[in-house]
Amino acid sequence: MPLLPHDFWSFIRYFKSHEFSSPDDPITCNSMDYRLIIALDNIRYLLHNSIIINSGYRTAKHNHDLGANSDSAHLFGYAVDIKAINDDYRFQLLFLVINLGINRIGIYPGHIHLDVDPDKTPGVMWYGKEKELIN
Ligand SMILES: [Zn+2]
Repeated sequence: MPLLPHDFWSFIRYFKSHEFSSPDDPITCNSMDYRLIIALDNIRYLLHNSIIINSGYRTAKHNHDLGANSDSAHLFGYAVDIKAINDDYRFQLLFLVINLGINRIGIYPGHIHLDVDPDKTPGVMWYGKEKELIN
């Protein structure tokens, strides 16, 4: 994914760039897929509720430290994990996510994984256990 234009984040209404960076590298937010960020910004507008990004871009080291899949979409800026506050929130979020075209979704006890990885199968939703297999 090419780096984002220098002023990209000034057009994003509801998120700060650092929310998407790997904790060990503050500039990695600029390697996020811009389509995913724009979709999230629109989802946040329609949701009328906060969106907490648990994980965005991950360096290989951070991904390894989490024990996540070695081919995780987070490594390429194609994925975010959103904190799932409760069942109502999960429903509202997923309704918007699906209608706005994000078609790879992982449901975990505490978060929802969304990704737009073009190298992975589209149109899938899976259930995962938090400690078992983090995507
Ligand atoms: Zn994830």
